[in-house]
Amino acid sequence: MKTLTFCLGALRTNTYFCFDDAGACVVVDPGMDGEGIWNKLCEKGLKPSHILLTHGHFDHAQGVRYLAEKSGAKVCIHKEDAVMLQNPGFASATLYYRGDASLYPRCEADILLEEGSEIQVGTMHFKVLHTPGHTPGSVCFAEGNTLFCGDTVFAYGYGRYDLWGGDREALSRSLNRLSALEGDYKLCPGHGNTATLSRHREEIAAFSRQLT
Ligand SMILES: [Zn+2]
Ligand SMILES: [Zn+2]
Repeated sequence: MKTLTFCLGALRTNTYFCFDDAGACVVVDPGMDGEGIWNKLCEKGLKPSHILLTHGHFDHAQGVRYLAEKSGAKVCIHKEDAVMLQNPGFASATLYYRGDASLYPRCEADILLEEGSEIQVGTMHFKVLHTPGHTPGSVCFAEGNTLFCGDTVFAYGYGRYDLWGGDREALSRSLNRLSALEGDYKLCPGHGNTATLSRHREEIAAFSRQLT
């Protein structure tokens, strides 16, 4: 798997293009500007078959409708966050649209994910870890030794739990789970720099304890 990272929008959300040598492609979290993301894909000669969402917040999902319409990609989100694609309030989009939620590009999920779901795209194989807490349906996608972890954990922190559906105790359990994963992973978070689990394992365990 090759990845390209784009840091986009007012909240500097990471959008990842994942692709293989044969051109199979997925986009993780097309957050802010669907048209801009589509243009970048076209420049690279990539056409995604799937859009993988780590969770339903607007800064990760705002570009989904445009991108899905242009590319025909299937929209994949955990079943407990799917409602956020239809509800700008749940997606915290009203913060961004200054209350005019009618402007939010609502869309529908095509594939509802759950713990253990697997998505095969070309030679890439994404496995779903349900890691609730930041939102009810927050997930991490593991592909080989890369983990796309959304807003559950960052290089130096963890996601907030005070927005719709947030759950401090669930986040603590999710961080504990990630800190205990076997082997090493490159952590690709929803905001900020990448990290490695081997270097941050103790810190993530400490975050978990802070939240109990
Ligand atoms: Zn979020
Ligand atoms: Zn975010």
